[in-house]
Amino acid sequence: MLEELIRSWDGEEVVVRFDQPSGVWMFVCVHSTQRGPAGGGTRMKTYPAPADALADAMRLSAAMTLKMAAVSLPFGGGKAVLAVPVLPDGEDRRSLFLRYADLVASLGGNFQTGPDVNTSSADMDVIAERCPYVYCRSEEGGGSGDPGPYTARGVFHGIRASTRHAFGSAELEGRVVLVQGVGNVGGQLAELLAAAGARVLVSDVATDRACGLADRIDADVIPPEGAIDIECDVYAPCALGGTLNAETIPRLRCRVVAGSANNQLGEPDDAERLRGAGIVYAPDFVINAGGALNAIGIETLGWDRKTTDARLAGIGDTLAEIYARADAEGITTEAAAKRLAQARLA
Ligand code: NAD
Repeated sequence: MLEELIRSWDGEEVVVRFDQPSGVWMFVCVHSTQRGPAGGGTRMKTYPAPADALADAMRLSAAMTLKMAAVSLPFGGGKAVLAVPVLPDGEDRRSLFLRYADLVASLGGNFQTGPDVNTSSADMDVIAERCPYVYCRSEEGGGSGDPGPYTARGVFHGIRASTRHAFGSAELEGRVVLVQGVGNVGGQLAELLAAAGARVLVSDVATDRACGLADRIDADVIPPEGAIDIECDVYAPCALGGTLNAETIPRLRCRVVAGSANNQLGEPDDAERLRGAGIVYAPDFVINAGGALNAIGIETLGWDRKTTDARLAGIGDTLAEIYARADAEGITTEAAAKRLAQARLA
């Protein structure tokens, strides 16, 4: 199964290591180095089987190639997955990340990484003890820190551009925005939206988190199972991928879908389903690029705060260009975003 997956992949390189002391499978997928070293986070998760982890890494890695190109970063796309039997902590976690650091260092900079699901700036500090190709170390550790707030700011700009396209105005005062998943990104996005005058609805399986946030920003809490059916102007998926599919899209009662979650579409046809429903969809690999822009901009490209802020706002301009192109060519916003990225890759 692993062999079949690797042979049929359109990426450049797959590195597989089985870490005997922990029973962890490490997969590093370098999808493209056409525009520069392959950049992408390190995700740590339990999977039913190693092949599921590899398939996840491959899919996420290809999306990183599109993301880097869409926001004009001089990087290619990559992703690593650590398929763990259980999420480690303490000394087990530290020693695992040190061994993983040796693996990334051995690639000589062809793959450069940062945090992702279940990994943090503290883990990046550990990797940095043995490997220079790592972003988003803690600020005390000399890095650019947690990318979440910058991803949230990029999504905020993306929502403004999307509402301008759908309603003719980027003004958020009075707009109803439902944020599904109020973790690191969604929580900060909800605060930005509330500060801009939007009426914010929040939904999270962690009910305490949703209620605490709702109290702070005067938002309404929506039970997670009913979030997809709620009438709103903007639906912002900021939890897991795959939530937009043949079953859920007909239930949406919004004009815009714009959120941070990776791989939001269950399958490629879902982009057409959204278009058919008259919903403006902000392609995830464009709208959630703020964390990558901040980390690479600050740590490698020498950007100052002003330049970085302008590039985060530029996510909105890129989406506006994508929407105009999709309308002009009669294609989905996902297809228009891919054409934009592929033109930069060509
Ligand atoms: P997080 O783990 O901090 O937050 C996710 C939140 O979603 C949690 O509060 C969780 O309880 C909630 N959740 C999980 N399942 C849910 C469900 N079915 N319904 C409602 N809520 C649910 O993660 P994050 O860093 O905020 O990232 C959110 C999404 O954005 C992920 O898909 C991630 O891959 C993507 N993303 C994040 C970044 C970043 O900088 N952190 C960058 C790009 C993309």
